[in-house]
Amino acid sequence: MKALKLKTFKIIPMGSKSTCENNLSAYALAPIDSHNYICLDAGTIINGIEKSINQYSFDDIITPHESNNISFSDSNNSDSNNSDSDDYSHPSTPIKSTILTPMSAQIRKKIINFFSVPEIEKKNEPEPDNFTDIFFGSTGNKNDNIFDEDDKNNQMLHENILNKSHEELKNIEHNVLNKSKSVITLKEFKRTHTNMSPEKYILLNHIKGYLISHAHLDHIFGLVLNSQIDDKKYIYCSNETCNDLKEHIFNWRIWPNFCNEGVEKCLNKYEYVKLNQNEKYRKIIGTKMKVKIFPLSHGNIISTAFIIKYKTQHIIYCGDAGSDNIEKSIYFFNLWSKIKKYVINETIAGIFIECSYLNDISSNELYGHLNPIELENELSILNSLVYNETRKNLSGLNIVIIHTKDSTLESEHTLNEELLDISAKLKCTFIIPIQGIRFYL
Ligand SMILES: [Zn+2]
Ligand SMILES: [Zn+2]
Repeated sequence: MKALKLKTFKIIPMGSKSTCENNLSAYALAPIDSHNYICLDAGTIINGIEKSINQYSFDDIITPHESNNISFSDSNNSDSNNSDSDDYSHPSTPIKSTILTPMSAQIRKKIINFFSVPEIEKKNEPEPDNFTDIFFGSTGNKNDNIFDEDDKNNQMLHENILNKSHEELKNIEHNVLNKSKSVITLKEFKRTHTNMSPEKYILLNHIKGYLISHAHLDHIFGLVLNSQIDDKKYIYCSNETCNDLKEHIFNWRIWPNFCNEGVEKCLNKYEYVKLNQNEKYRKIIGTKMKVKIFPLSHGNIISTAFIIKYKTQHIIYCGDAGSDNIEKSIYFFNLWSKIKKYVINETIAGIFIECSYLNDISSNELYGHLNPIELENELSILNSLVYNETRKNLSGLNIVIIHTKDSTLESEHTLNEELLDISAKLKCTFIIPIQGIRFYL
């Protein structure tokens, strides 16, 4: 069996579809040892946070109420001294907290039992069945199945937390066990903090910024609507996306200008950070991550691929895009050429890429999107680049399929079949996120 690769990132899909108004593309991403997320696209925010809270996907966050009763600290965190550390920036909530653990469904259930709250509703959380190559809302790692064995739970718990010794972990667990009776959940927070919903609390304190791939409505809907209640934040995007937001959205005609540029008066709540593909990685303020961009072709507009870096690992998030072949572009090729070294070095945690349509759509009806045939064409090019240097394929590479249509059971089944065909050829692992269900890469 291949050695188990440590997880580096946690992802909470706040929205995962392209056509459903309360479930549009938006992925909260944080390093596994942090509570400070950035939002990859922002189609659905508050509704997605609410669903995620109900699925206990934010259960590692300690609320101010809880912090009065719980005192274990984050001092072992190696990055806690730099300016982008996890210290909470909100002056009214001087919280020190730590993650409890990255959790499988089973472990989460055990820990929640510590906290004496109701059983997890598991209806939206199917377990990965035996060794298929597509996973729904899971980590996508076949070895996750060993979570079923009680005696291995603690071992996995330890292996999954980066840079923490067994001694440190034991301390954390000891503290959790001792303090757990006084801990309340975000759901209970709702009852104790009448002036702020838990959704808003997460939005204000734990979403540190937005990475917007392009300004189509299904990627900015939540950002625009929640700008009224949101806090000061940065919007990281290309020049093209910035111009679209300035001229066509935050222009005092469609919506007030909550940003720092564009039609006067600028309300200066959001500050654009315009990224250029020729520059080095830029820090994502308030987090421990860095970002770099590449352009993608999306019909008549330029979309964006973000490379997010934390320590040695990278996540690639591709906004909507069509294949080079159909778009008459070289943007995907340029991206694959850049990231092939990460695939070869195994420093890539996963690639988020869209698959908007099924194969029953002809190539002239894709309008700047991918279907499984075109997805396979693109992944095959990455595969060739890697194979030419290493004689290896994409084995073990996590591909997160995003921006699927809200679909019937039958069309979901068809998509799975079409993805399984690709997986059989290229040996990559496909993950299909489910709104609200946290997973790790
Ligand atoms: Zn689009
Ligand atoms: Zn879209």
